Amino acid sequence: MAQSLPLRLSIVNSGILSSPITSEESSSGLTRLSRYGSISTLATSNMAEGSDWYDDDKARQTDIEGVEYEIEARLPASQRPKGRYSLTDFSLMRTVGTGSFGRVHLVRSKHNLRFYAVKVLNKEKVVRTKQVQHTNNEREMLEAVQHPFIVNLWGTFQDPRNLYMVMDFVAGGELFTLLRRSNRFPDPVAKFYAAEVALALNYLHSMNIIYRDLKPENVLLGQDGHIKIADFGFAKLCPNMTWTLCGTPDYLAPEIVSQQRYNKSVDWYALGVLIFEMLAGLPPYHQPEPNPVLLYERIAAGPAHIRWPAFNPDATDLICKLMEPDPSRRYGNLQHGAGDVFAHAWFREVDWAKLRAREIGAPYMPRIDGDGDASAFEHYPEGDEVNLYGREGDDPWGRLFPDFEYMPTVP
Ligand code: AMP
Repeated sequence: MAQSLPLRLSIVNSGILSSPITSEESSSGLTRLSRYGSISTLATSNMAEGSDWYDDDKARQTDIEGVEYEIEARLPASQRPKGRYSLTDFSLMRTVGTGSFGRVHLVRSKHNLRFYAVKVLNKEKVVRTKQVQHTNNEREMLEAVQHPFIVNLWGTFQDPRNLYMVMDFVAGGELFTLLRRSNRFPDPVAKFYAAEVALALNYLHSMNIIYRDLKPENVLLGQDGHIKIADFGFAKLCPNMTWTLCGTPDYLAPEIVSQQRYNKSVDWYALGVLIFEMLAGLPPYHQPEPNPVLLYERIAAGPAHIRWPAFNPDATDLICKLMEPDPSRRYGNLQHGAGDVFAHAWFREVDWAKLRAREIGAPYMPRIDGDGDASAFEHYPEGDEVNLYGREGDDPWGRLFPDFEYMPTVP
């Protein structure tokens, strides 16, 4: 029986308390409930900096009291071979996802005939919504990371209008879709996905990368059912503290909502929300009629005020420890770091080394009919902008994205 399929669309919104996305029909004809998407107030913060786009890295160095919160931080040099790519290397197939700045296409390499996903971001939209820094961060972070549970970036390039990021195509679709279709996951299923996410977060944090947008929409499933975290639009190098207000409202930690400085522990908080959503089917502070003010009040009040479904008590305990409102007492952010999460009773039976090696079978195998089968993804109307990919044109913004190489264009 067809069920309603609530979706949180990704948006960038310059006002955290502004109106949420409203209901709409999805391409599959299923009703999408009102949901918030990803937000960022990078756009509105500190415009007195006098810059067209606000650079939170610069601002971070001089704090209100003049205290330096940032240490010199660099990512280790990327180990991956740098490929040079151009749109002419690929045949465009269909759209598998849309974001605030563009769309993600399934493509096929004309050389090795393999399938990839190409994320296309419109430069003008990125600049207009003040997401230049985030977009450059996304490229830099994805280039630096290599992990079995994180989507692999092969290369990036640009033309006068757009930026392009070539990634592996992750064929199994979003965990979000699986969750909505299943209503909720049984305890062992939620545990499997949570454990893989925990390993990916720990890896990112070990590189001083904060992810900041954990939610089931950004957890994709590979053909083998293992997870691949995608969308690094809010990821950044963050050895200490940061303060940009961004993420997805249901998943925001209280310190982000109250606009304080925060650290990587916001990702552990979000893991608590994700575990709750997987077990209950909806996030802990879900309201049928979105009301941002009420949502933020509930987030600030903390998990003690949640009406708890009958979860496994160990799961409830871990969620509470991850959703701990005080970051200095939050699991993942204590003396033993992620070790406390891995050692928690809910994960008792998890063999972490085997899990990391993908030797633990996934609970759900996506039904994929050969390479390049995109049936796990919704259908999106194909836009006319495709005709302008790789074409000559005015390019007022290219200098803002110096690490995206130029590809040859045609008139
Ligand atoms: P993003 O803007 O990165 O969140 O991408 C929007 C949507 O496109 C995601 O929610 C996925 O459904 C889809 N998508 C993104 N990256 C990939 C990928 N590498 N493989 C398959 N689908 C993807």
